[in-house]
Amino acid sequence: MSEQRDNGIAGVDAGTDSAGGDPAGRHPGGFETLAIHAGQEPDAATGAVVPPIYQVSTYKQDGVGGLRGGYEYSRSANPTRTALEENLAALEGGPRGGRGLAFASGMAAEDCLLRTLLTPGDHVVIPDDAYGGTFRLFARVAERWGVQWSVADSSDPEAVRAAVRERTKAVWVETPSNPLLGITDIAAVAEVAHAAGARLVVDNTFASPYLQQPLALGADVVVHSMTKYMGGHSDVVGGALVARDPALADELAFHQNAMGAVCGPFDSWLVLRGLKTLAVRMDRHCANAARVAQLLQAHPKVSTVFYPGLPEHPGHEIAAKQMRAFGGMVSFRVAEGEEAAVRVCDRARLFTLGESLGGVESLIEHPGRMTHASAAGSALEVPADLVRLSVGIESVDDLLADLTQALG
Ligand SMILES: *Cc1c(COP(=O)(O)O)cnc(C)c1O
Repeated sequence: MSEQRDNGIAGVDAGTDSAGGDPAGRHPGGFETLAIHAGQEPDAATGAVVPPIYQVSTYKQDGVGGLRGGYEYSRSANPTRTALEENLAALEGGPRGGRGLAFASGMAAEDCLLRTLLTPGDHVVIPDDAYGGTFRLFARVAERWGVQWSVADSSDPEAVRAAVRERTKAVWVETPSNPLLGITDIAAVAEVAHAAGARLVVDNTFASPYLQQPLALGADVVVHSMTKYMGGHSDVVGGALVARDPALADELAFHQNAMGAVCGPFDSWLVLRGLKTLAVRMDRHCANAARVAQLLQAHPKVSTVFYPGLPEHPGHEIAAKQMRAFGGMVSFRVAEGEEAAVRVCDRARLFTLGESLGGVESLIEHPGRMTHASAAGSALEVPADLVRLSVGIESVDDLLADLTQALG
C-alpha cells in the first residue's frame, strides 16, 4: 500500500471531506496530528483545549426547532461524542472520507451494523477465527432473526469466494484475527466481496487505525472495539463503526439513533484521550511484542508461536504489505497441553490473568476457557493448549522475565 509507505499512513491529507479530518485545513494531516486535533478545536466559549464532557441529555432551543449546532437530544447527538466521531472518521477514513459513529460497546456497533445491512434470509460469510462475541452474535442472536451465516477461512480469498451465495450481503473479516493472529488480504477479499455484490466489513480492533486502514484497501465498513487499543487504558468500554459510502453511513446513523446504544459523553471523552497517544503506545506495543515472540519461539516448552511479525507466519508478507507494523498480540501453544497452558496463565505475575486486550498493562489468558469458550464445538473452536498475550508497554525485560518464570 504505497500511500502508507510514501507519507507515513493513508489519511495524511484528510480534510478534503466534511465528516473527517479538519475541513478548514488548519492542521497538517499526519496521523499523530489528526489523532490529537481532528474534531477537537479548542472550545469556542472558553478556549479549553480539550473537548468538555457534555454531561447533558437535552439542549435549549432558540424557538421551536431552533437548534444550536444541530443538538436536540443526546441520543441523537452529543458534542463530546461528535468530537470522537469526527476523530474516528479522520483516523480511519483518510482522504477518501468516511463517517464515524461511536457506540456503547464493540458489540453494540456490530449489532447496529448487522441490523442495518441485513434482513431475514440474507447471508453473511464470517471468518473461522473471530472474536468469540462476534461468533455468538451471529450464531445465537442474528440467526433467530433469520440471518444465514457460514464460516470460511478468510486468509484464503478463494475459500471466501466459494462461501458466498446469492443472498450474501456481507463478508466479515478480522485481521489480525483473534486469537490465532491470522492475516487476511483485505484488498483481495474486498474484490471477492464486491464481485458478489456484498460489502466487506473489517474488524480492525487488533491493528488499530495507526497500523492498518481497511477503508483505503477497499473495505466498506470498519468495526472497532474501542475498549481495546483505542481507549488503551482498560478503563472504558466502547465501539465504533466507520463507513465509507455516505448513503450507508446515513443508514447506520439512522439505526444508531433508532436503536440507541450510543457512546456516553464521559466514555467518548476517555476514548478521545486514549487516541491522542495511540501512535506512541502502538509503537511500543509492537516493539515489545516482537521481543516476546522471539523469546517464545526459542523456548522448549512452546510448540507454536502465532505472531504476524515472524517471517515463518503464513500471513507475514501480506501483513507487511497492509500494516505499518505487526501489533501487540501474541498467541502460543504450550507443548505439554491444556493443563500446562492453564498453569502458565496461573503462574504469570506481571502479565495479569484477564480477558480483554490493548491496554498499557500486559494481560494473559486461556482463550479456550475464557474469551472463546462460547465457540466450543464450532468451526471457531480454538486449540486447548493455546495461550494469548496482550503485550503491554512495561519494560520489556520485566515482561520477558515474567514469561520465562511462568513457563517454568
Ligand atoms: C473485544 C472485541 C470485540 C467486542 O467489543 P466490546 O467492546 O467488548 O463489545 C469485537 N471484536 C474484537 C476483535 C474484540 O477484541
